Amino acid sequence: MTAPIATDTHEDLPTAVRCEGVTKTYGSGPTATRALRGVNLEVRTGELLMLVGPSGCGKTTLISIIAGVLGRDGGGCEVLAHDYNHMSQGETTRFRGKNIGFVFQAFNLIPTLTAAENVAAPLIINGAKRERAVDLASQTLGRVGFDDRMMRSSPVDLSGGQQQRVAIARALVHDPRLIVCDEPTSALDGETGQKVMDLMRRIAMGKDRALIVVTHDARIFRFADRIAEMEDGMITRVLDSPNEMKLGSEATE
Ligand code: ADP
Ligand code: MG
Repeated sequence: MTAPIATDTHEDLPTAVRCEGVTKTYGSGPTATRALRGVNLEVRTGELLMLVGPSGCGKTTLISIIAGVLGRDGGGCEVLAHDYNHMSQGETTRFRGKNIGFVFQAFNLIPTLTAAENVAAPLIINGAKRERAVDLASQTLGRVGFDDRMMRSSPVDLSGGQQQRVAIARALVHDPRLIVCDEPTSALDGETGQKVMDLMRRIAMGKDRALIVVTHDARIFRFADRIAEMEDGMITRVLDSPNEMKLGSEATE
């Protein structure tokens, strides 16, 4: 019942991501892997799109290309009105540093730094003054529910859910307009996963923003506006309602 409403709400909004015929092959010769075989995908501004599909179907490859951390072999990729085909490597890197946040599957936190330093690090790398970076990092960690003591903790002293919140704060600290998450709940228990997704929706979404979440976790489908299914290097269908997905997966299980 709610599906048409959700679709209408997002249809008029500008496109955040448009992929057309994106291809990617790893390696060459007999060992080559065709990871993407012509991906077409549109993500609208203001929506949370989930990308689902079996292991090895190309999900990480696709979001890495969208995030500008991996090159394509063919096809076009336009992100926030920037066409990667018309940008140099340096321009893409600068664009990414300003506009895109990436939440990795493994949290990728640096154990010798505090939580706050982990969040401040990308800002410092991008040229921010240390004091300003730490200030922004503390503010962002505050938004994910961290207090002063937790901010001073090493990631090794934090729970999985807390580490994921640090990783989210690190992805959000520069206020990106596109956030890409690779299986953000896969290392978390069900309840913590729900909390993390709830948090993502509340603090990362906005009418000028978009979120792509790769997941296997059917328990978080309800947070999606649309769900794109991927199989063997292609998007096979896009569902407007998480409920359709649920029915579909139950039918095939
Ligand atoms: P998913 O995230 O859906 O599990 P990936 O995008 O990681 O899928 O991988 C798609 C395919 O490309 C898989 O067959 C995988 O083994 C292969 N692949 C991924 N990364 C590399 C790489 N760096 N070198 C060679 N093959 C890779
Ligand atoms: Mg993957």
